[in-house]
Order: sequence, then structure tokens, then C-alpha cells
Amino acid sequence: MADFDIAIIGGGINGAGIARDAAGRGLRVLLVEQNDIGSGTSAASTKLIHGGLRYLAHGRFGLVRQALAEREVLLRIAPHLVRPLRLVLPVNRALRSPWLLQLGLFLYDRIGGRAILPPSARLDLAKDAAGAPLKPEFKEAFEFSDCWVDDARLVVLNVLDAAERGATVRTRARISQVERADVWRCTLDSEGRRARMTARILINAAGPWIGQVSEHLLRLPGKLPVRLVKGSHIVVRKLFEHDRGYVLQNSDRRIVFALPFEADYTLIGTTDREYSGEPSAATTTAEEIDYLCAAVNVYFRAQITAKEVVGVFAGVRALYDDGSSAPEDVTRDYRLLLDERGRAAPVLTICGGKITTYRRLAEAALHKLSHHLPDAPAWTAHAALPGGDFAHNEVDGMVLSVRTQWPFLSEPTARRLVRAYGTRVNAILGAARAMSDLGQNFGADLTAAEVQYLIAHEWARSANDILWRRTKLGLHMSKMQRDALSAFLAGQAARAVAG
Ligand code: FAD
Repeated sequence: MADFDIAIIGGGINGAGIARDAAGRGLRVLLVEQNDIGSGTSAASTKLIHGGLRYLAHGRFGLVRQALAEREVLLRIAPHLVRPLRLVLPVNRALRSPWLLQLGLFLYDRIGGRAILPPSARLDLAKDAAGAPLKPEFKEAFEFSDCWVDDARLVVLNVLDAAERGATVRTRARISQVERADVWRCTLDSEGRRARMTARILINAAGPWIGQVSEHLLRLPGKLPVRLVKGSHIVVRKLFEHDRGYVLQNSDRRIVFALPFEADYTLIGTTDREYSGEPSAATTTAEEIDYLCAAVNVYFRAQITAKEVVGVFAGVRALYDDGSSAPEDVTRDYRLLLDERGRAAPVLTICGGKITTYRRLAEAALHKLSHHLPDAPAWTAHAALPGGDFAHNEVDGMVLSVRTQWPFLSEPTARRLVRAYGTRVNAILGAARAMSDLGQNFGADLTAAEVQYLIAHEWARSANDILWRRTKLGLHMSKMQRDALSAFLAGQAARAVAG
């Protein structure tokens, strides 16, 4: 008998989602991630759980319907990580008629099923606070609902749930060799150690690396129909005070988002640039920064340049190549490519997809493999992710009760902890009666207790894992504070080796 039913290469949102779903169906799952969980494209998204209004213009009704429906599913199973977000779409008559926008929003409101999120509305920008930061020539706008998600934490919590349901998780590990027989015989290299294991089914969920895995590791014949498209974001000091985001139509037919980010900042993105290099080397170019600043400057009174940019990040989409000429037109829908050859063990390759549809993708992947697997029903639509076992409208109540139990926490810190850990916040705060009981405070109220929790339960190792993926506190900390965290982690690692 093989050691595992399914071995998954890639701990991004798609690998994590499949691992969780499969483990919950009683399958023996191995998840292998070469770096940190969620360190690929999944931490570099715009962080929207959205139907994608612009995909309606491309006639992708199926994708939009499925994605719209997922907004409320994810809001219910991860009420700490996902929150409703109203998006303001200023009318720009030079680019699109308001009638066309209204028609799109009419469909957007109706095709996905909506019980929690409010419908779209028309705004008079002279009266509504959303008009205040915009140039006076923008007089009207539409406002509609989508959701925002902490993308990197969504990945981690899927992996955590998979592990709690029995999956084996190996981070900073790679499958370096495979032999395909009636099972996959795999060599696993992990931090200087080598192990051999077998799996009945292999899933290639390596995101922008799927082509490399397919060609160089699995040696499958032919080239995968994948197109790599890079997207960049910039972060600036906040351009507006309210908690809604903006969807800005650009003269090249694309749209750019300007979203509230980490209380004090605005996140602006994204770009679509054909990409052919090593995915981990993707960076934001000066040209992309100028493009994003220019897109925002059309609408906002405050004008920004590269000088105002305090952070950037880039990610690479691995899109299914549908033959579109422009990178922004390539489908964002996923494709599942199943390779079966006689009695040889199968491999399923995951192409494309969105954070928004990861859960449905996982269900579809297991359905595609169902003739190799025991019967088990889909279950993830109604099962809370770790810490998410409370109602979507109870966040404020949770913050209040956390502050009652741990009165030394400031409101923003209590809210951040509830948003990140939900009901599991107890595991960090425990019996603490004062901030000092939580150990060293590295800055921005990141304490040793939280860091130790992340190491013990969430596979965190490095300062980057903690500052940019498990939290986004890197934005709020000085270099000296970040260095202090690195030194603390080095000390912990040294003690672990000695012990
Ligand atoms: P990844 O997250 O890249 O995961 C693949 C993982 O595989 C990586 O962690 C990598 O280290 C690992 N790996 C690779 N090779 C190996 C190997 N040999 N061994 C072990 N591990 C390996 N979607 C939305 O729904 N909403 C958005 O707002 C949104 N915005 C986006 C903005 C941008 C700029 C981009 C680029 C994408 C955006 N997306 C969005 C899409 C979404 O981010 C991606 O579809 C999704 O993150 C892909 O996840 P993945 O698991 O396939 O890939």
C-alpha cells in the first residue's frame, strides 16, 4: 500500500485548499512546499474575493457566477479573515457609458446569489464621502459589494486545517525525484535530509512553477498550455479616510484598484505583464510604478509619484492559455489537466484559478479524481476554518469580549488579533494579565507569545514569514524592530538545535 493517497506539490492557496478538502474526506495527504506556505503568488494578490466585474465584459458568466457565490461562502467559513468591502466605481464618461456599468452591476447583483452583502447603489460624489478625495469633475459613481481577504493567512489556515485533519505537511521541502509506476515513488529533500515515500496520486499545484514541475520533475511529454502573467502592486500612505475601495477605469480598458490597506495605507494594483523568467525573481519595475501612479492620478486630487511609494510586491499568475492576445484578456478560470496512462499512477495539474474560487477548485479536483478515490461527499462549504467558528457579523462582539478578558490590549491590537486568529486568540493570550506577560514586544504589538504561536502552530520560521505573511506588521515596524525579530528567531532556532 502506498504511504499516501495524494501527494500535493505546492503550498499556495490551491494546494492548501485541495489538501484540506482531501484530508477532511479521510484521505492520506502529503503537502510539500519548497519555501514558506503561501510564499508564491497567493501572498501577492489584490486580496479581493470577487466576482470580477470586468470578466462580465468578457462574457465569462460561469466564472463570475461561481466567484460571486463564493464571496458569502468564504465570509461564513472565515469571518475573521474575510470581510465585506464596498467598492466605488467613479463614472468616467470618456471611457464607458454609465448605462453599461449599470447593466453590469444589475447582473452582478443578481447572478451570484446574495444574502449578506448589500446590492449596488448609485452615489452622488458631491454629497458622499467617497467623492471627497476625488477630483471635482467626477460627479457620480456606482458602489457595489465584494469581499476582502488576508490572502496569505487564508492559505495558512487551510494548511492548518488539513494538518489537524491528518495531512502531513512539509515546508521548505522539495520532491527532487519521482518514478512513475502503479504508485508515485518520490524522493523528498528537506533541509539536508532525504526521505522516500510513495503516493497513489500526484497533484501539481505549483502555481507559476507548474511548467517546471511538469517538464523537469515529472518529465511529462509536451508543454503545458500555461501563460505566465506578472502583476504588481504599490503601497502608499492612505489616500482617503473611509473604509471603501475604488475601482478605477483606465484608458487602456483595464481597471486598477485603490483599496484601504492596513489602516494607514492604500494598496494600488495591479498590472498585467507577460512574464518568462523564474517566478521567484519577479519584481515591480519603475515602469509599473509609474503606470499605477498615473492610473490613480487621473481620479484623485492628491497626486502620487514613485517617491510616495512605501512598498511594492509582484506576483505571477499561471493562466490557462486560451489564445487571447492581450495578457489581461486571458481567462482567469481554472483548468484541471489529468494525465492517466494505463496502469501508471495519475497526475493532476492545476492551471489558473483565483483565490476566490480555490475552494470550488479543490472540490472540482477531487471530483476529477473520483474514479481513483473512495466515495466521500464535499464538505468544505459549511465547515469553519481554524478560528472562524463564529458568525460573520460578530467580529465587533469578539473584539469587545477579547478586550474584556484581556483589558490591557488596545482596541487596534485586539481587533488585529481577532481578525488574524479568531477564536484561537486564546492560544496566544492565555493567562496574560499585562502586555509584559506576552514577552518581548518587537513593535506594533507583535509579542514573543504571538511569534512563538506562529512557530509552533503555523510553520513560521523566518522574520519574513511573520512580518509579511502570517501578519502584515512589517509595514508598521522600523528596520531596527524587524532586525530584533530576526535576532530573536535566530536565538530560538539555535536553542532548538541545541535542545
Ligand atoms: P502559488 O500561490 O504560487 O502556490 C504555488 C506554490 O508552489 C508556491 O508556494 C511555490 O513555492 C510552490 N512550489 C513550486 N514548485 C515547487 C516544488 N517543486 N516543490 C514544492 N513546492 C513548490 N485572485 C483573487 O481571487 N483575487 C484577487 O484579488 C487576485 N489578485 C491577484 C493579483 C495578482 C497580481 C496576481 C498575480 C494574482 C491575483 N489573483 C487574485 C490570483 C491568485 O492570486 C492566484 O490564482 C493564486 O494565488 C494561485 O495560487 P496557486 O496555489 O496556484 O499558486
